[in-house]
Amino acid sequence: MNSPNFKIGIIGGGPAGVATAIKLKQYDFKVILFEASKYDQITVGEHLAAEAVHELKKLKVPESILRDHSIPCTEVQNAWGNSEIHYNEAIFNPFGESYILSRPNFDSALLQHCKEIGIDVHLETRISKIEARTLGWKLSTNKEDTEVHFIIDASGRTSKFNFGAIVQRKKVQDSLIGITKHLNSEHLQSIDRSHLLVESTSNGWWYTVQIASGKLISTFMTDPKIFTQSKMSQNDFWNDQLENSIHTKARLDSFEQTNDIFIQSAHSQIATQIQGNTWLKVGDAAQSFDPLSSAGIIKGLKMGISAADALHDFIQGDANALLTYEDKIRDQHKEYKEKRLAYYQQEHRWLHAPFWYQRILFAKQILNFSITPISRLTIIDSNCKDKILFLNTQLPEINFETLLQSIQLYPLAKDAITNYQKATHQKQMNPWLIYALESFKTIGIIE
Ligand SMILES: Cc1cc2nc3c(=O)[nH]c(=O)nc-3n(C[C@H](O)[C@H](O)[C@H](O)COP(=O)(O)OP(=O)(O)OC[C@H]3O[C@@H](n4cnc5c(N)ncnc54)[C@H](O)[C@@H]3O)c2cc1C
Repeated sequence: MNSPNFKIGIIGGGPAGVATAIKLKQYDFKVILFEASKYDQITVGEHLAAEAVHELKKLKVPESILRDHSIPCTEVQNAWGNSEIHYNEAIFNPFGESYILSRPNFDSALLQHCKEIGIDVHLETRISKIEARTLGWKLSTNKEDTEVHFIIDASGRTSKFNFGAIVQRKKVQDSLIGITKHLNSEHLQSIDRSHLLVESTSNGWWYTVQIASGKLISTFMTDPKIFTQSKMSQNDFWNDQLENSIHTKARLDSFEQTNDIFIQSAHSQIATQIQGNTWLKVGDAAQSFDPLSSAGIIKGLKMGISAADALHDFIQGDANALLTYEDKIRDQHKEYKEKRLAYYQQEHRWLHAPFWYQRILFAKQILNFSITPISRLTIIDSNCKDKILFLNTQLPEINFETLLQSIQLYPLAKDAITNYQKATHQKQMNPWLIYALESFKTIGIIE
């Protein structure tokens, strides 16, 4: 098929949709890009990895877009694993300094560039429905309907499109939300460089950055359950958690809080299907990362380029090109999950706080469950009533008192398990028992 006659509709003008559109345009496809907003909403995600420069170069995006809508990020400071600040200086990064973006201005400037290179851009146009047609899809919008041969779903982490397939976006274990507040500096002076501060606390972690406009953005990442159980307003909860921090609180001291506070979901997820013969997903619509990785935007740019390459090859006759694209994303997600778990595992200060306990236990399951049936278990903290109470709330399937008594009687793991099953009248192995033993070890009751 001749590229210019092949019409491709892209839903979403975030980094992933824009990168896909530009690369497809370079292949001479007819691209129609739909963006629901006019970039006047608050967008979170400000830290852009240094290597993004190379992706933007590949896309032939003018350097002025990044220069005019960002400031250099001099370093990443993190208090993670202990209360001291560790510095990750940009000078040690082979790609140089990273960037603090003024989003949504950056996204908006990229879209403007799309227009300038001849992409058919429809701003403030929300795709409300898609219907299959013999040769592609009909897209219904709040303005007029359009028909396209192929759809690219770049509508972000809340994507609702499943293309007639059974596409679900599967959570990768944890729930995570970000509660973001904007603060103003007393003198509202603009700055020409900034740094990123990451600090863990007992209920989650903080992410704070001052952006070019003199504003400071501070997000507390936590589990939705911790927030709802507090029964506090967003504002009170955010302030309450700030009291648990050291460095974040100090950095926020000279800023005035505004009323801008909002919650966003931030858990990691991956779609159960990423492509079909007439559609594919890109960016957060395909897979989204924990903000800890600071990699959502660069991932969107890279995936956009790969998606366009794959679609080009597919149309040129490579029947496997889209499948290969999906495989690549699945491999990437596996690698990402392992890195993320390893990072959460570095924090040991609050092992019996739900936020960290869940993540570290899950990390152990994936990376190294250490207890085997022939492990000899030694009780090192027998005065552990509070810890047992905590564990009962985390794994209600298990009677932890009985399990501890079983270990006292039978130190070999397999014997302790047999005794526990007898004592609780269970005939079959309870799969949560291995988590329970690992939990004892994680929070220092056995070794
Ligand atoms: C709290 C938090 C902090 C983060 N911090 C960082 C960070 O520091 N660095 C980083 O790299 N990443 C960060 N991220 C992640 C990053 O913001 C995203 O990964 C990135 O924006 C994804 O790009 P995208 O193009 O896939 O989707 P999005 O940027 O979400 O863009 C999707 C676009 O689609 C449009 N759209 C949606 N539905 C429709 C529709 N029906 N019709 C038309 N248009 C539609 C939306 O308006 C939007 O513009 C953070 C995320 C969170 C939640």
